[in-house]
Amino acid sequence: MPRNSSGKAGPVGRRLNATVSAHAGPEPHDQGGLLNPPVHRASTIIYEDVDAYMGRHNGLYDEVIYGLYGVETTFALGDAIAALENGAATVITPSGTSAIALGLSAFLSTGDHALVVDTVYGPTRRFCDEVLARFGVEVEYFDPLLGEGIARRFRENTRVLYMESPGSLTFEMIDVRAMCAAAAKREIVTMLDNTWATPLFCRPIELGVDVSLISATKYLSGHSDAMIGALTARTQDLYRRLKDWTARWGARAGPDECYLVHRGIRTLDVRMERHQKNAEALIQFLRQRPEVRGVLYPALPDDAGYPLWRRDCTGASGLFGLVLDPVSAEGARQFFNGLKVFSLGSSWGGYESLLVPASPAPTRTQRVAPDGYLVRVHAGLEDVSDLIIDLEHAFQRLARAPAASESRT
Ligand SMILES: *Cc1c(COP(=O)(O)O)cnc(C)c1O
Repeated sequence: MPRNSSGKAGPVGRRLNATVSAHAGPEPHDQGGLLNPPVHRASTIIYEDVDAYMGRHNGLYDEVIYGLYGVETTFALGDAIAALENGAATVITPSGTSAIALGLSAFLSTGDHALVVDTVYGPTRRFCDEVLARFGVEVEYFDPLLGEGIARRFRENTRVLYMESPGSLTFEMIDVRAMCAAAAKREIVTMLDNTWATPLFCRPIELGVDVSLISATKYLSGHSDAMIGALTARTQDLYRRLKDWTARWGARAGPDECYLVHRGIRTLDVRMERHQKNAEALIQFLRQRPEVRGVLYPALPDDAGYPLWRRDCTGASGLFGLVLDPVSAEGARQFFNGLKVFSLGSSWGGYESLLVPASPAPTRTQRVAPDGYLVRVHAGLEDVSDLIIDLEHAFQRLARAPAASESRT
């Protein structure tokens, strides 16, 4: 059952990207005029004759041969994300975390060395320290600001360079082009977690990255009710390696989740615009508060990452760091517990605004996290004046709480 291929767009700017997200995936007339790809649920696929059955494995990469390896709905989502990322092809996985685990392990073997950015998403670090280490891979963390100096960390057995830009919780930008240029001379596979910017605002493959990965659970889904990961490869060879590896581990994304994420992509452009606008308004308010030491967001002209953000991204999302003066345990209770519009919860990228205390310091070894009480803010799609009133009330409650004795989160 050959599937339809999406009309791939070449490198395009922001406006055209909105068109890609609205149209990415199968041609409606190839599926009976239906606009979105229907949900196909299947385990067994039956064949007309024995020759077709015996040759089925040739179709692993682009046909429906068994439910585990993807159905039309999965491939449609993969095509859509590949078009957004401007990559050769995309493997869909059950979550962002599985994309990280499968992506890293696909290219690493016992005795290899991997370079991983110090500001990486917490569970990525745990995968490195708890799983890769157990299988005999040596993981070395590097400073996100190292730039082309990364070359001095390369060893004979370095196989993977893993980046995330901006970094989790502290939002440092990486000079992705410089790092990829250095790695390209050594046949090191470069990977980048592109969840924050989304492929709408950043296309890592165009910056030189081999594998761009996202948690589509966040902005692509956009509604906090589905989990999906995606690994987009620069070349067909890399795609095949990732697809084979994912098949070996039996990692299969459910077609209902794939459908939900594809549906989310249709409105990605308008949602991202609003997330960014709300984030900017919140930041403007927050920076005038006396309790605020700083805001971590690369789209701010006085942020250290601003030049790289401007060079490599076409927009900024709704997630940023807020550094407050030290807050006591009771102060934190007062600040968070009375929130009416913001909610307290992990993950982000959905329609709702979220606040959580964040503590990057204990795991970091290369770059010191900012001093103060760190809060991660996700600007959702609500009316920003309601969000600001909610924060004003939170600061009033905080002011009535006893002063802090400890200095960080
Ligand atoms: C949430 C997140 C992930 C993991 O995604 P899940 O879909 O929740 O497994 C990966 N990377 C980053 C940067 C994230 O924020």
